Amino acid sequence: MTTPFCAAPMSRMAVHTITTKPWSLRECIDQYRARNVPGITVWRQALAPQGPQESAKMLADSGLKVVALVRGGFFTGQDAATRQAALDDNRRALDEASTIGAPLVVLVCGATPGLPLADARKQIAGAIAALAPDAQARQVRLAIEPLHPMYAADRSAVVTMTQAREICQGFAAELPGPVCGRRLVGIAVDVYHVWWDQHLEREIAAAGTLGLLHAFHVCDWRVQTRDLLNDRGLMGEGCINIRQIRGWMERAGFQGWVEVEVFSTERWAGDQQAWLDHILNAYQEHV
Ligand code: ZN
Repeated sequence: MTTPFCAAPMSRMAVHTITTKPWSLRECIDQYRARNVPGITVWRQALAPQGPQESAKMLADSGLKVVALVRGGFFTGQDAATRQAALDDNRRALDEASTIGAPLVVLVCGATPGLPLADARKQIAGAIAALAPDAQARQVRLAIEPLHPMYAADRSAVVTMTQAREICQGFAAELPGPVCGRRLVGIAVDVYHVWWDQHLEREIAAAGTLGLLHAFHVCDWRVQTRDLLNDRGLMGEGCINIRQIRGWMERAGFQGWVEVEVFSTERWAGDQQAWLDHILNAYQEHV
């Protein structure tokens, strides 16, 4: 398989608000627009200060395309009350997505220390099945984001594309049907989490065939990572062949947004305007 050498088109670029975390939603909108970034993925904490209704108005007026709401999930728990609270919160996330016009909610599925991973995955599948009718009613898709295995203890029992696909397939037949031409429940492929997987190309192809490729997130894996959560690299700063993975996504039929999602304490401490300029250059050079 050859690697595509053309850069990703700017027309498919989106930025996650968490990438420029110090900025308010207003500032994100204004600064992304000023640089002709066409898409925005909104984190729930960016909605909170002004609420979903006011946020929806700001986003609608901006002309930016709302790509997704991040994030739902954290479904697992040792007791029923914890799991019910998670479901309630996910229903609020679906309402927020619907309000701001986001067609997708990204799920970080959760893990609970002491709970066996297989049990956690059963809880996750059950919770997503419970949410599916609510998602369908709002015409909002759900995307399971497999996380890197370093988060298996406490953030996600789903750590591979294979596990995510199996959950999607496990109850796909019971779902009410496709939304916008794709399955209601699919996968968010984040290069940071899956780049190391020997089966990645094969799994992306399989997910594409099944209509499960819902989102594509890019950043990079810094060699000598200083923090397991908030030290992601900008594209080109690490060891991930992002363009190759994008090629696999596109060969599998994915023509959606390329979303820049970088958590970086170091970058958040600096000037956000310069950071966003740097992101645009990296997108053109390495994605
Ligand atoms: Zn992601």
